[in-house]
Amino acid sequence: MRILIIEDEIDLADILAQGLRRQGYAVDIASDGEQGCESAMVNDYDLLILDLNLPGMDGLEVCRRLRAGKPHLLILILTARNRPFDKITGLDLGADDYLVKPFDFGELVARIRALLRRDLRVRDTILQCGDLKLDPASRTVWHGDRRLELTRKEFGVLEYLMRHPGEVISQEELLEHVWDAEADPFSNTVRVHIHSLRRKLGDDQTPPKIIETIAGLGYRLVSSS
Ligand code: CA
Repeated sequence: MRILIIEDEIDLADILAQGLRRQGYAVDIASDGEQGCESAMVNDYDLLILDLNLPGMDGLEVCRRLRAGKPHLLILILTARNRPFDKITGLDLGADDYLVKPFDFGELVARIRALLRRDLRVRDTILQCGDLKLDPASRTVWHGDRRLELTRKEFGVLEYLMRHPGEVISQEELLEHVWDAEADPFSNTVRVHIHSLRRKLGDDQTPPKIIETIAGLGYRLVSSS
């Protein structure tokens, strides 16, 4: 899952980004409204953390524009403004949640998880697909009775595939949602991570039975695996 933070307090943005990366999210930062808006329009983020007091374009204006251009983007406003007027305006402009600074990082992460669940119409807190079970909160994965030790990116790839079981997911889509803006679109990093995931799943026979390769299109998690 990939998150954009639009926040002009660089120290806060960095701390947030580090914390969220430790939770396994891919995170990019924009430090003003214009840059943030542009970045959110060209990239496919799952969720936006938006400050309201920004230089140049105000956060509420960013929210209004992105709601119009990116109807499915989840927007969480994170701001020192706590007047009911700002909350009401933000939510009316289409923000999905509102958290006032100073905030507790654990609460922020719990709200992010709740928003991602809501968006994907996945009510269960644990994702399940065949013999695979993945818990986004505790970041654990089970294959049958076996607990898998996955790296952060392997976990991200598997989580994304498990949120779209049976769908063909392209390399580009995985890069968009699991890696941040630093990722090189021409590298073979997705292939390498799929390969190591299959190895850990014991899915290294030919052809693989859990994560299928769909030639020229991408990968598909077989839902009855
Ligand atoms: Ca600010």
